Amino acid sequence: MELGALVCTAKSPDCGVCPVSGQCAWRLAGKPAHDGPPRRGQTYAGTDRQVRGKLLAVLRDADEPVPQAALDAVWHEPVQRARALDGLVADGLVEPLENGLYRLPAA
Ligand code: SF4
Repeated sequence: MELGALVCTAKSPDCGVCPVSGQCAWRLAGKPAHDGPPRRGQTYAGTDRQVRGKLLAVLRDADEPVPQAALDAVWHEPVQRARALDGLVADGLVEPLENGLYRLPAA
């Protein structure tokens, strides 16, 4: 179960169906109002998620496997770009080919 995505969402936690409600300190404390520093939403710009999206967009738009250089062109920071690409490969969302090309996995 994707607890954080489906049950314990920030705007509307569904404690009635939550499998850990018996151990939830916040619920057991009576669901007190937040009294900490203001919450800031996660920005998208500059995140690995943004880089991953840009890499996937190149592959989605291509009719054929693309060379590393085409992927390198989408993001200026090489360490973050490599991390994003490695993550996509590890997640099975990008397939590296032996000749240095990349493509989306065959459906
Ligand atoms: S019981 Fe706690 S962990 Fe479960 S949904 Fe409610 S707030 Fe979230």
